[in-house]
Amino acid sequence: MKWVASVVNRGFRRVERSADRVIGCAGPLFIAIYVGLVGAGVWAFFACVFPSLVTIPAALVRVWYLQSPVHVVLGLPMALYDSVMQQPYAMIQCVLVTLGCFYIASMMAWSYYMACMEPPGSVSEGMTEKLNERRYGPGSDVWWRHKCRQVSYAMLESVSDAEDTSLVEAAIPYTDKSQSGLGAKGHQRVNRPGHPRFRYCKKCPQVTMTEAILRLPPELRQIEKRNRRNHLLRLKQQEAHQTDVAHLHSNLAPELFVEVDDESETDVRAWLGEDQNNFVFAPKPERAHHCKTCKMCVLKFDHHCPWINQCVGLGNERYFILFMLWFALGTGIFGLTGYHLAYKALWEYSWPFIYTPRVVFIMLYTIAVVMGIAVLILAVWHLYLVASGETSVESQDNAHYRSMAKERKEQFINVYDMGWARNLQIFFNTGRGLDYGFYTLLLPRRIEPYSDGWHFAKNPKLSGSHSGISREEEFTDDEGDDFLAVS
Ligand SMILES: [Zn+2]
Ligand SMILES: [Zn+2]
Repeated sequence: MKWVASVVNRGFRRVERSADRVIGCAGPLFIAIYVGLVGAGVWAFFACVFPSLVTIPAALVRVWYLQSPVHVVLGLPMALYDSVMQQPYAMIQCVLVTLGCFYIASMMAWSYYMACMEPPGSVSEGMTEKLNERRYGPGSDVWWRHKCRQVSYAMLESVSDAEDTSLVEAAIPYTDKSQSGLGAKGHQRVNRPGHPRFRYCKKCPQVTMTEAILRLPPELRQIEKRNRRNHLLRLKQQEAHQTDVAHLHSNLAPELFVEVDDESETDVRAWLGEDQNNFVFAPKPERAHHCKTCKMCVLKFDHHCPWINQCVGLGNERYFILFMLWFALGTGIFGLTGYHLAYKALWEYSWPFIYTPRVVFIMLYTIAVVMGIAVLILAVWHLYLVASGETSVESQDNAHYRSMAKERKEQFINVYDMGWARNLQIFFNTGRGLDYGFYTLLLPRRIEPYSDGWHFAKNPKLSGSHSGISREEEFTDDEGDDFLAVS
């Protein structure tokens, strides 16, 4: 199963990547192909397969063949009344099957729409309304065009000499390395157990120190502030061999010594002092990764998917999986109920559907069956990953960590793995102690993810990070990049 899933997965990636290479921004094309094919498939189902599923009451058939649409509309109430009176069971069956089919078709459309339009969540803008505003608000005329503009904008802005490691050092002078338990490298900033962890992204546009601090959640801002204070105090002590702490305090910004729960920009600027406008690498929370296509760090990054023209990340991952499941269900029903028509189209002389040529039907039927099976395998694979508390990226990383730990005769434990049932509940944000009920999975409802992108549920037995692997050994996004050799 695992092998089949990885083959299908790699197949999809290869098609997507080569399409991207050929036409640059492949997302819109993929969406157009998808909408066209599914639209045609739904048409073929309702026009050809559907009438064979139910016995349509005779009165309804009669009214359908009246002279004009006006006659049909006027005659419909009477025809419905007649149908209920004359063939009640056929009528009930007809209504139920129709509703069922429309429900599945609309859930397919809705979950796809949400996977495309719900922002995966970026580090700079988080899961906030601001991002939605930018996505749907003024200026987002045709949303994929807007998206392409955004990409080129980010490219213009990115600091090309970001490789200069002194900038990394500039970002961390006030990190208390002894507290974080890290080596001198300092790219990887780890905070005490229980606190969210983060690193820096060298690929995102650099930001001012003020903005970097403001992107952190409040408790990390406090830690940054404490670290800076301790660092400055130590520097001064070393400089002047001063032991008079009161005198030292008088030389530092008084704001550094005030504890504020949630600091505003003015607060942060005050205690950063002259460093406030220094450019530093942008902070990147745990589980976020940099997407090459979107040119930004995406929260709980899974992968970039041209079929939805954006990344699969924290904000839209649940819709992505729901979409795959609904798609597999829809195509499955088409495959099973349309079998006899596909046979008829291939081998029999008569073909009663004027508006759906038999070639078109055979083509749509074949595509639906093939894509349905492929997407079902992908959906099951993703559900398996979700149940293991992993994203696609993490599943590759964790496999590597596992073998590393095994070589040392240790056991790797994924810190985000809370047990398969709980992992699934957390992912869909439904169930015990979470925000929504299970029934919401079946409704076209927008649901907030359980996390803000910084804080994740973690195995309480571990001290905030994976077991069996040290923090220095964990991958960063920078692996395989040239400039790592420079630093
Ligand atoms: Zn980035
Ligand atoms: Zn992306």
